[in-house]
Amino acid sequence: MTTTLTAPVSTPSHDSVVRQPRTVERLVTGQATSDGDGVKLTRVLTQPLQRRLDPFLMLDAFGSDDAGDYIGGFPDHPHRGFETVTYMIAGRMRHRDSTGNEGLLQNGGVQWMTAGRGLIHSELPEQEEGRMEGFQLWLNLPAADKMGTPGYRDIPTSEIPELRLAGATVRVIAGASHGVAGAVQKAHTEPLYLDLHLEPGATFEQALPAGHNAFVYVYRGELDVDGGATRTTVPRERMAVLANAADRDGVRVRAGVDGARALLIAGRPLNEPIAQYGPFVMNKQAEIFQAVEDFRAGKFGTPPGR
Ligand code: FE
Repeated sequence: MTTTLTAPVSTPSHDSVVRQPRTVERLVTGQATSDGDGVKLTRVLTQPLQRRLDPFLMLDAFGSDDAGDYIGGFPDHPHRGFETVTYMIAGRMRHRDSTGNEGLLQNGGVQWMTAGRGLIHSELPEQEEGRMEGFQLWLNLPAADKMGTPGYRDIPTSEIPELRLAGATVRVIAGASHGVAGAVQKAHTEPLYLDLHLEPGATFEQALPAGHNAFVYVYRGELDVDGGATRTTVPRERMAVLANAADRDGVRVRAGVDGARALLIAGRPLNEPIAQYGPFVMNKQAEIFQAVEDFRAGKFGTPPGR
């Protein structure tokens, strides 16, 4: 687990659980790009940050009221060697994959897909207008699990535990916060995935193991990361990479005057080599060649099609 706290859900957020909060190492602005069939998105966690934020490989943020920015969706494509975690804030996307799974991702729900040895899937919008907003995080798998059985889990919004503190609602997608266990628990990387909804001026603290890599991505309003002697404002659409130091036991944030919504994501690094070619993430180049060969040979199964 990522925390040993057992405080009840009603604990006010100003009850300190962090003695020495982490500072911000750097602020990152995402890169505007497009993926799939012309879906406009912001790549927040890019390839050069993969080692620094191990075990996380990528974070994309997408959000638009213009159907032209998302209507093409992500037609059939393969994955091998890691997991994709899609969190929908608004909108509806239909997932289908070569293992026969199908699901609808919608408002507040999460899809946790384990590519393992490989699958082919499509992620297509099931709306022709209105807002589409969400995130896709890529979480690496340890070498021993990269060729494991593909898996898929839909977590509707009603199954995501929520923690209520003074001025803060915390959706606990993975890991645990203030004694509330999230919807997903995973060994090895022990991911923590929180969606923080903070009222104006509200503070929130989260214990974090010192060795785990962690970042905060602000998607509404802004917040300060209170690092004790230093304080860093993180504006909207910025990622704050939190410094790792042996004597720091967590993170403390305080929302700005308009409140804030932010993702707090952390995990234990795998410290294994990373070889990536597009949607394949393995440890060695030879394994990437093998992935391409297996995909071409049809070993990822039959594409789900539309
Ligand atoms: Fe995909």
